[in-house]
Amino acid sequence: MNRAKYIFVTGGVTSSLGKGIISASLAKLLQSRGFSVTIQKLDPYINVDPGTLNPYEHGECYVTNDGAETDLDLGHYERFLNVPTSQANNVTTGRIYQSVIEKERRGDYLGETVQVIPHITDEIKNRIKILGNENKYDFVITEIGGTVGDIESLPYIEAVRQMRWEIGSACLVIHLTLIPYLPTTGELKTKPTQHSVKTLLESGVQPDIIVCRTTRNITEAIRNKIALFCNVLPHAVIEAIDADTIYEVPLLMRSENLDQVVLEKTHMPADTKSDLTEWEDFLFRYKNPEKTVSIGLVGKYVELKDSYKSIIESFVHAGAATHSQVQLRMINAEDITDETFSDKLSGLDGILVAPGFGERGFEGKLKAIRFARENKIPFFGICLGMQCAVVEFARNVLKLSAANSTEMDPDTPFPVIDLMNEQKTICAKGGTMRLGAYPCGLKQGTMAHRIYKSKQISERHRHRYEFNNRFLEKFEQAGMIASGIYEKDNLIEIVELEDHPWFVGIQFHPEYQSTVAKPHPLFVSFVEAALQFNQRG
Ligand code: GLN
Repeated sequence: MNRAKYIFVTGGVTSSLGKGIISASLAKLLQSRGFSVTIQKLDPYINVDPGTLNPYEHGECYVTNDGAETDLDLGHYERFLNVPTSQANNVTTGRIYQSVIEKERRGDYLGETVQVIPHITDEIKNRIKILGNENKYDFVITEIGGTVGDIESLPYIEAVRQMRWEIGSACLVIHLTLIPYLPTTGELKTKPTQHSVKTLLESGVQPDIIVCRTTRNITEAIRNKIALFCNVLPHAVIEAIDADTIYEVPLLMRSENLDQVVLEKTHMPADTKSDLTEWEDFLFRYKNPEKTVSIGLVGKYVELKDSYKSIIESFVHAGAATHSQVQLRMINAEDITDETFSDKLSGLDGILVAPGFGERGFEGKLKAIRFARENKIPFFGICLGMQCAVVEFARNVLKLSAANSTEMDPDTPFPVIDLMNEQKTICAKGGTMRLGAYPCGLKQGTMAHRIYKSKQISERHRHRYEFNNRFLEKFEQAGMIASGIYEKDNLIEIVELEDHPWFVGIQFHPEYQSTVAKPHPLFVSFVEAALQFNQRG
């Protein structure tokens, strides 16, 4: 028997209420009392993982150390807890069915009829218990994607019902719901919550705690009403009022005693003291910046901020670390042309070119990079952004005007960015990129080495293309040097310009590793360089 308590977080009334942030905030509070906690996300869609999803659908795809392509909520979990997640922390319906069908094909079910109950629900329960069975965690918090009442969520809710039945008080259900405010009558309304709890009850699940998203404070009377109609104690009705920043939510949840109620209900020691001093320090610095700096984020999904979630949050961490407010200007690469570029890019103290796939906006990205290179504006290129910097340098400095990445032009005479060898025979799209953490050696005396203060680092990847070493000598002679290398396969992971105050392109994704407790050194250094540029300007 493992020691873990299982906490389920379901959502009612509407999607996008912030189950991920509530889960991460509760986890943070429990962690701040000395408990070890992990968070898992169950996604009810049929894709095996979100790696094949367009960022417009579900926002950014987050990558773990072990190379899992996961839901962006895992990014919040890591940023809040500063503990890495893994493949086991994100499970989709597609993955569940895939493993059940593989077992059926192997003959593991010995002639049984394979059904949603018990086979699919057993597989769901196994995926939940895997984390608890490691015997590393006091709490496993499982966030169930979607909204109760959705057809596709039903097997998950049924799995919760069964676990409850099997392990009783080692299991707890938190239901996150919306309390809308009707301006015409000036009232907060509880009816949608009553209905969504009824929907949960129809599936045999009684929530223990109800967390109410609201734009106004809920009164005692409303708390009592929700308690009465939804069979919970009034102090288990928790207000989750809109916050200025997601990083405020753990403190709001602490003042509502969410962690206290969880500990009581799971019979865990509730006399432990919560220490959130560092978190509060971070929040103070974030909310009281001493200076501002303006950074342009050039990409192709700029209208949907979730597509660059981890990059945006990395700037929040770096801003707090440098006592500055980072103002991000989101710039659609397609809007950068010969006519518009000086308008679009004027007044920026730093330019970041984002990761991405495909040709759309590629030429605009090159123009932004040329502008940063020639005007000595700090430049940070991540993944595709680094590849663009290499192509720009080849075309405008090495004068190889037809240079390109073979992703954009398979027939270019100068393929300065090319498919990695092991990628050349791969056709299937799902889970086939170079994924997850790889070590990288840094060359002494380079900017990368100065920033990381280390000779060996480990960063996470998600790409198929890579710098083409055939051209390395030419690049280095002209001043673009390779400062980080994956020695085993001789892959270039970092390039930088010698004759520039801050120009760094990286093949990996540092944004996946920036957390509140550990802002990423590259983002911190980039913001510092932008602050310096700003003061000079
Ligand atoms: N499309 C590029 C590649 O596959 C870059 C990927 C990325 O930016 N994540 O290599």
